[in-house]
This record gives sequence, C-alpha cells and structure tokens, in this order.
Amino acid sequence: SYTLGPKITNWDFTRKAWLHENPRFPSYVNGKPRVLLVTGSSPSPCDNSIGDHYLLKSIKNKIDYCRIHNIEIVYNMAHLDNQLSGYWSKLPLIRKLMISHPEIEWIWWMDSDAMFTDMTFEIPLSKYDGKNLIIHGYPELLNEKSWVALNTGSFLLRNCQWSLDLLDSWAPMGPKGKIRDDAGEILTANLKGRPNFEADDQSALIYLLISQNNKWMEKVFIESSYYLHGYWAGLVDRYEEMIEKYKPGFGDERWPFVTHFVGCKSCGSYGDYPVEKCLKSMERAFNFADNQVLKLYGFRHRGLSSPNIKRIRNETFRPLEFVGQFDIRHSALIGS
Ligand code: UDP
Ligand code: MN
Repeated sequence: SYTLGPKITNWDFTRKAWLHENPRFPSYVNGKPRVLLVTGSSPSPCDNSIGDHYLLKSIKNKIDYCRIHNIEIVYNMAHLDNQLSGYWSKLPLIRKLMISHPEIEWIWWMDSDAMFTDMTFEIPLSKYDGKNLIIHGYPELLNEKSWVALNTGSFLLRNCQWSLDLLDSWAPMGPKGKIRDDAGEILTANLKGRPNFEADDQSALIYLLISQNNKWMEKVFIESSYYLHGYWAGLVDRYEEMIEKYKPGFGDERWPFVTHFVGCKSCGSYGDYPVEKCLKSMERAFNFADNQVLKLYGFRHRGLSSPNIKRIRNETFRPLEFVGQFDIRHSALIGS
C-alpha cells in the first residue's frame, strides 16, 4: 500500500547520535524542548481575495505568538506529495520536517484557520514527558467513536520513531481519488456523527487510534484542560465578557488559547457557516489577540471589529521604566 517514503526504523538511535555530534543544535535550550510551529495553505490563491487577507492575518497572529515565546515557525504552500493534497498535506510535511530538523523536539501543527487568542499562555510541555502526541479532545467521545472526539487542527508530535510510525499508519487512507473516497465510506460507517465524504485526516486518526487502541494510546495525551484547539462558535461572542472578567494566561474557557474556525472555509467554498459570519468572527478573534500584542506599544484596537487602533497611554521620555510592566514576556506566568 501507500507509503510516505523509505521506512525509517532506527530514528531514535540515529537522532540521538546526531544530537551528540552536533552540540551547536541542541534539542533542549535552557531546559526547554525546542518547538517548531508548522502551518500552511494551498499552493493556489483563495477563491476570493478576502480569504487571502485572512490567511495573512492568521500568519501574522502566529508570528507574533511565536516571537513572544521563542518558537520557530514554518509556513508551507507546497504539496510535498501530490497524492496527499488538501488537509492530508500536513502528514508528509510533518515527516519531512521531523527528519530534516533533528534538533526540533516537538513539531506543532496548526491549521491556517486557527488563531492564538491567549498570547500569554504557554503549553505546559513538562507535563507531557513520556507522551508523543498531544491533541485536544475528549476520551468519552473517543470511546463513543465520535468523529469529533479529537481535533487535528492543532496538535504536537514529538520528534521520535513512534511519531514516524504513527504517520506511516495514518497516511494510507490519504491518496486522493478512489483510495480516499473508499476510505471515506469506511470512516463514515465506523465513526459516530460523520457525514459521508472522502477520508479526512482527523477521522482517519480517530479510526486508527480506536481500532489499534493498545498500540498507540499509551503515548497519546488527550488534552482538554485548555484550548489547544477551541471551537470558535462558542467563543467569539464571549470575548468582551472575558475581557471584563479575566485576563490572558488561562488558555481555557476564561481566555481561550486557540480559536479555530472549524467549518468556515473562508479561503474556499462550501463551508458549513455563512462566509460573512465567519469573516466577522475571524476579525474579532484577530483583534482580540492583537490587542494583547499592541499593549506593549501603547495601542489597542478601537473595538474588536475594527482594524483601526488608538493610543492607550501617553508617550514617555522614560520608556524603560515601563517595559517590564507591559511586555508579556516578563509575565510571571511564562516559564514558571
Ligand atoms: N492546508 C494546506 N494546504 C492545502 C490545504 C490545506 O496546508 O492545500 C492546511 C491549512 O492550514 C488548513 C489545514 O490544512 O487549515 C486543514 O485543511 P482543511 O481543508 O480542513 O481547511 P480548514 O477547514 O482548516 O480551513
Ligand atoms: Mn481548520
């Protein structure tokens, strides 16, 4: 059947040897594992130019978060394997980045339609010692075989043999055409609530994990204590309430870490929601997050729907007296 490339069997050993021989490329820096955030979009323009504008806002949002938290970032617009197009393209990409960047400990995939909305929150990576896949979801839904038990819009994979093996087992439903179409029927027959359509990466992962449970679950951490992925519909209308009651840093329903526009398709067509509603909501998410970035510079958006900004404090001739107070990198929540 289909493979992602030559079978690699000794990755943990060869990577360890490589790290030993290349001390200039450590996989841990200051005691923290090195993280690479990976995202991307299709090789061709969106159907509508406003879609491309929101892709730009979404990558700006990710660049801001990654700069603040010392995370490297890759934006990909190519299909490395022409059989694995669309949502499947993340699989060969993640594999390629893993084996090309042995110094990276965690590869973090994030969809183009997901935005950081808590710029202060940091993933508690030390919590995941001994785990190789961190994904948002609910174990009860996985038991029920729900097709939304996990969300593949934002997840982390450790750079290790286990992850290469997982990608190899995950990929075979992906090749476009008959294989993907037939696999879609298997997934719909086996997963609760799944509409009938071609095989998608999320359903395929859920199906793999439940049908080979003993093989994989020991190394999977299903995270729901914060929004590694947060479904936008329940969040975007509550941002004002969050601003009133809470502050960034929680990452959960009080101040969601990630807001993901599942079902929106603002770059293409055939979304589950009206495109106007999606774009307005994306604008709100972007500005909600951007206010947290602009605070350091003394500005904020006029409202959550406005790209325009206004000053929130006077200029000073003693700027360094305030830098520590406004720079969220100085926050006690980070690195604690
Ligand atoms: N994607 C990509 N190349 C493509 C199509 C999709 O890199 O040709 C990425 C993009 O980041 C997108 C994710 O794959 O957010 C999931 O694809 P999907 O079709 O589900 O799009 P979404 O609903 O997330 O916009
Ligand atoms: Mn998405």
